[in-house]
Amino acid sequence: MGSIEVFDRQLRLGWWGQEGQEKLRRTSLFIIADNPYAYIGAITAAAIGFGNIYLVGSRHVKNFRILFEDFSGDFSRGTVRFVEKYLGRFLDDYSMRLESISINLASNSALRLVKNIIDIDESENKVILDLSTDLQVKLFVWKLMGLTGAITYMAIFSEGVKLYALSDIVRGSTKRISSRKKPTWIARDMYARIQKQKTSRIPIEHLFLLASGLLLGEVALRIQGKFVVEGSETAKNFVPTAEIEFPFEELPPLRSSSLTIRSIVVVGAGALGTFYAIQLATMINLGLLRVKEIIFVDPDTIELTNFNRQVMYWGDTIGMPKAEVMAERFQKMVYGELIVKDEEARFEEIEDRLKNVSLIVEGVDTWAARKEIARFAVKHRRPLISAGVSLLHGQETFYLPFRTYCPFHSMNLEEKEDPKVDESCLNIPPSVIFTNITLSSAAILTSIGAKYPLNGVLYYSLEGFYEKYRRFHVEKYQGSCGD
Ligand SMILES: [Zn+2]
Repeated sequence: MGSIEVFDRQLRLGWWGQEGQEKLRRTSLFIIADNPYAYIGAITAAAIGFGNIYLVGSRHVKNFRILFEDFSGDFSRGTVRFVEKYLGRFLDDYSMRLESISINLASNSALRLVKNIIDIDESENKVILDLSTDLQVKLFVWKLMGLTGAITYMAIFSEGVKLYALSDIVRGSTKRISSRKKPTWIARDMYARIQKQKTSRIPIEHLFLLASGLLLGEVALRIQGKFVVEGSETAKNFVPTAEIEFPFEELPPLRSSSLTIRSIVVVGAGALGTFYAIQLATMINLGLLRVKEIIFVDPDTIELTNFNRQVMYWGDTIGMPKAEVMAERFQKMVYGELIVKDEEARFEEIEDRLKNVSLIVEGVDTWAARKEIARFAVKHRRPLISAGVSLLHGQETFYLPFRTYCPFHSMNLEEKEDPKVDESCLNIPPSVIFTNITLSSAAILTSIGAKYPLNGVLYYSLEGFYEKYRRFHVEKYQGSCGD
């Protein structure tokens, strides 16, 4: 059993140090939501450590899973209750407040009320994060942005997700960013996408995790302004982007039909594994995936430093095996029948038993371990989703034997080397969960979430050095490995 202690603010470890984390603490996020899956945005924002999070909106749900807890009632109240129950009461001074503004966003009084809440909020930074799905609510957000002057990001869910740095575009501060699009154009695009979604067969709920990761990455870095990347001397400026779309044209479109996978093994139940689990569970619950058996493999126990970031381990789980807690909670996340197993072991210790697994999803944290798993996948011709993250960037690829390239050929895996770690200094895991969220979600969506898998590698970076929205780069291949 884990120890029941109240943890202190030291938990809010960030790669930008205390000062950077302090900036996030002085930030209020106003998440506008009319779809219960927006709870994912609130929970991930809590994990990053924003000071005030308001979940604005209401929707009555019945037997809805807020992560691993069954809830009936108003989802925004349920989300607050969840965070208080599993995170808040274990923290002494996290300096974070999550509040539900349970209000009908279509009502006449809503605009004035929410405007007043934003006006009287005393935070240094105020950000509106629109995760709504209804056109009326989008218009509400647009008006709210005008009335409050708050930084506003908008997500439009329609056969994918389109993100706009709306306030930058509308206020004309886009000269530095790669968009010449006018506000009227954005309004028309918003309208067209929402109309299209009404008749689409592709659901949108499995895109909330990706939208949250992408948007919270933008917000977190924007709040930092100048930042120093670990291992580098020079400060960087946040490189803004006006828009991001996923999937964009170089990526395969999303799938609307159901895919059956007999058995999945998730190797690594850490930062990537946490969000793989959420992505997979959401797709199972939407009927996009049918899985008979899922196995979580991880040799580690849950430590204090995982607690605030890896949201599946919220609650009194310190000291317990990661794989066991993940398996137990995953079972509660899904509605249907599913066999969930856990292995408190390293991959190579149990690989003999995994030769017939239908899919390996890998989220281990060293190149050495990734090579080991990829060698196994190639040798036994097992499909493999492989992703890696370092601070502000990462990459993901999918190996489908006889269909796509393996990671040795697509991303030169053999040549990757882990940095030498100085054992004498304490190695504190950095808080980059938004990068983990984005990459784990994208890895699932470009492989088993797509109509056909991406044959290649998707690279993502928040530092602005890629050509696609300054965030993405795709390397695509013809041909395959497996012969
Ligand atoms: Zn190969």
